[in-house]
Amino acid sequence: MISVENVSKRYAQAVALTALTFAFRPYTTTVLIGPSGCGKSTVLRMLAGLVLPDSGRVIVNDVELTNANLSGLRQQMGYVIQDGGLFPHLTARDNVTLLARHLRRDNDSIKQRLTQLSDLVRLPSALLERYPRQLSGGQRQRVALMRALMLDPPLLLLDEPLGALDPITRYALQGELKSIFSQLKKTVVLVTHDLHEAAYFADQIVLMRDGQVIQTGAIDDFQKRPVVPFVTEFVMAQRGHVPLAN
Ligand code: ADP
Repeated sequence: MISVENVSKRYAQAVALTALTFAFRPYTTTVLIGPSGCGKSTVLRMLAGLVLPDSGRVIVNDVELTNANLSGLRQQMGYVIQDGGLFPHLTARDNVTLLARHLRRDNDSIKQRLTQLSDLVRLPSALLERYPRQLSGGQRQRVALMRALMLDPPLLLLDEPLGALDPITRYALQGELKSIFSQLKKTVVLVTHDLHEAAYFADQIVLMRDGQVIQTGAIDDFQKRPVVPFVTEFVMAQRGHVPLAN
C-alpha cells in the first residue's frame, strides 16, 4: 500500500498540507492536480522521502517512511522532475546507471537493462554517450525516465515531467508515456496543472486546493458531479478551446 495518512506540512511562510489523507491505488495512475501552490509537489516529495511531514504518516509499500528506512525505500521508487534533474557532468549513460553501479549490480545486467530501457523510451542508444546539455528537452526527459526505471521500482513519481517541453514534443511524449505506463503495470503518481493531461493519463484524478483534497474521481465526476463550486470553476478555467476528453 502507498498512502499518506493525516499528513500536515508547514513551511516558514506557508501551510503546504493540512491533515491530508489519501491511499494510492496499486498498479494504477493517480494524477494530482490543482492550482499552483496547493501542495501537489509536496505530496510527491513526501512520497519520495525528500520532505518529512510535521505530523501524520507516509506509507510506501506497506512500510512507514522514516529517516532510518529511507534509503532502502528510495530504491523502490523512481522520481522524475520537470527538467529531468540529470547530473550535468555525467553522460546520459552514467546518469541512468549511477545508482545501479553504486549498488554494485553486475555489469552485464546493467547493460541489458540499458538496452531494454532505451528501447522502451525510444532513445537511440548513440545518444547515451551525450551529456545532458547536448540533448533536447524531450530526449533529456526520456533519459530521466530511464534513470527512474533502472532498478525497476514498483512506484513511479512524476512531477510535471512534460511541463518544460514544447507542445508538439509534449503531445508525442504523452502518448509514449501512456503506453509505457500500461506496459509496466506500476503504481504511478503524476503531478500536472493541466486537466487535459490529467484526464488523458489518470485512472483517478485528485483535485487539491490549499493543501487539502477537494474531490477525487474521473474527469466525468468533476464535470457532472462537482462537490463544491470550486471544482466547476477549476474545470471551466481549464477548458480552453477543446472539449475535455473522457
Ligand atoms: P504545488 O506543487 O501545488 O504548486 P507545492 O507543494 O510546491 O505546491 O507548495 C505548496 C506550498 O508550500 C506553497 O505555498 C509553496 O510556496 C510552499 N512551499 C513549497 N516548498 C517550499 C519550501 N521549500 N520552502 C518554503 N515554502 C515552500
